[in-house]
Amino acid sequence: MKRWNGWGDDHTTYPLPDKAINYLAEWVGSSQTPQDANLREIIAQVPNSRLPAHALVNTDADVRVKHARGQSLPDWIALRSGRIGTFPDGVALPTSEAEVADLLHYAKEVGATVIPYGGGTSVVGHINPKPGETPVLTINMQRLNNLQQFDETSQLATFGAGASGPDVEAQLRAHGLTLGHYPQSFELSTLGGWVMTRSSGQQSLGYGRIEDLFAGGAIETPAGTWQLLPHPASAAGPDLRQLALGSEGRLGILTKATVRATPLPEEEEFHAVFFPDFAQGKTAVRQIVQAKIPLSMLRLSTAMETTTTLALAGHERLIGGLEKILSLYGVKDEKCMLLFGVTGSKPLVKMARQAALAIIKTHKGIEIAGQRFGKQWIKGRFHTPYLRNTLWDMGYAIDTLETAVSWHKIDKTLADIEAALRPGLAAWDERVHVFTHLSHMYPQGASIYVTYLFRLADDPDETLARWRSLKKAASTAIVANRGTISHQHGVGQDHAPYLPAEKGELGMALLNDVARRFDPDGMMNPGKLMIGDYSQ
Ligand SMILES: Cc1cc2nc3c(=O)[nH]c(=O)nc-3n(C[C@H](O)[C@H](O)[C@H](O)COP(=O)(O)OP(=O)(O)OC[C@H]3O[C@@H](n4cnc5c(N)ncnc54)[C@H](O)[C@@H]3O)c2cc1C
Repeated sequence: MKRWNGWGDDHTTYPLPDKAINYLAEWVGSSQTPQDANLREIIAQVPNSRLPAHALVNTDADVRVKHARGQSLPDWIALRSGRIGTFPDGVALPTSEAEVADLLHYAKEVGATVIPYGGGTSVVGHINPKPGETPVLTINMQRLNNLQQFDETSQLATFGAGASGPDVEAQLRAHGLTLGHYPQSFELSTLGGWVMTRSSGQQSLGYGRIEDLFAGGAIETPAGTWQLLPHPASAAGPDLRQLALGSEGRLGILTKATVRATPLPEEEEFHAVFFPDFAQGKTAVRQIVQAKIPLSMLRLSTAMETTTTLALAGHERLIGGLEKILSLYGVKDEKCMLLFGVTGSKPLVKMARQAALAIIKTHKGIEIAGQRFGKQWIKGRFHTPYLRNTLWDMGYAIDTLETAVSWHKIDKTLADIEAALRPGLAAWDERVHVFTHLSHMYPQGASIYVTYLFRLADDPDETLARWRSLKKAASTAIVANRGTISHQHGVGQDHAPYLPAEKGELGMALLNDVARRFDPDGMMNPGKLMIGDYSQ
């Protein structure tokens, strides 16, 4: 069963080796298991629903608790401590587009606001009800998850927008195709959520981001149904798909989405390579993407992330042996690991691997142990988020943030974000362990993905204050470097204060006008993407 206050299936665990536990103590200090609230206690706090009865709307307290928060660190703090504050007044699980339209009419009639809900995996507060006088209806799309139409010749597939990653892949694989969209939240996140947050999968280098894969669809809005036709390309004015992508439920509910699929690859390989330092690795990956070598993934860890990954993995003897061999090649304490993926036909895989390795070699990158590390990575790629459960139970909070900048700004932006986070809890006399990788590479730049770990305080409000202080410091560093406030997680409520710095006054006014056109009463997911009214 899905955990209500953590990540994933409650039968899946992520035990850490003893040595890893010692590392955590070394990095930020030892900690202890927090006192979590239990579901029964939380259910008892849920206020009466303010929604009048409707056949599709469930107002049971436990269902409302399970839709109250997503997966951000503040969400975890709220769920684990029981200090949740706001709950939706009801949850509906429609099974057709007509039911979605009916629910929007009902919400309008009773003066409710609506939160479209996919898998609830948002890490920036996208699906949290706002406090206030207005009743809140959450519309969970999970029952609209079927392959509705399939055009084999054009490789176009239309799904209900509530299809999860496994739903999408299983139904496409039956036809010998794949979408190739693998965010780390793949297990639970949905097609509708991906489109509405502009998500990026781990193999975006090969398959493209969701905006490349989303061909069109239907959006049920308070002003009517908005159809986006799946043209292969069009010069008929601005591309309106771009308004739907990243609209975070503010314009309406995506009921179905047509995606561009790809034949299943004949071959796929993942390789691990080690560079003597980050500068060499960064130059190599930039040259690889600029040479347009058709890889499906590139992910370069800093020295600190490499050390952290190896330490948490255990396998001491294997890693000790690896380090000895690497040091013979001059790859020592500053070593940085690069994971790269090659996907496609056999000849393409061979050509791309050789071309990438040739560039890697000129920058002193060493491939060791064949595909052994790459195979480990692919095996565990959707298991890693379970580490969040283990760390919390040991008394540690872990969070991630990300941006994207052009190549010439990578070093300074990365250094500024880490410098904002590392001493960020000095006022509490606490340490923060910070590590970073570059992923989602483009010829013009890359995304910078930062993970930070710190100890939970005894008081959950103090843990939240620590997080707020760190998040503000890092977001300020991103904005100061003119980075985007999000490369893939979206805006939600946590990044909304920083969006005007990126879009500008006119840009915010335009977004505001678009939202008003589709949603004149402001009933769709208020407080997300935009805070307040930007009309001029
Ligand atoms: C462990 C973990 C790993 C992650 N890894 C990645 C990653 O690798 N790449 C990445 O991009 N993100 C990642 N994320 C973030 C998150 O999974 C993505 O933002 C994802 O796209 C959200 O999808 P969802 O279905 O869970 O949407 P939800 O969280 O339910 O909703 C997100 C937003 O989309 C809106 N929405 C959802 N469905 C619809 C719909 N049908 N119509 C209209 N609006 C809708 C909601 O209103 C909300 O504003 C990760 C999150 C976690 C917890």
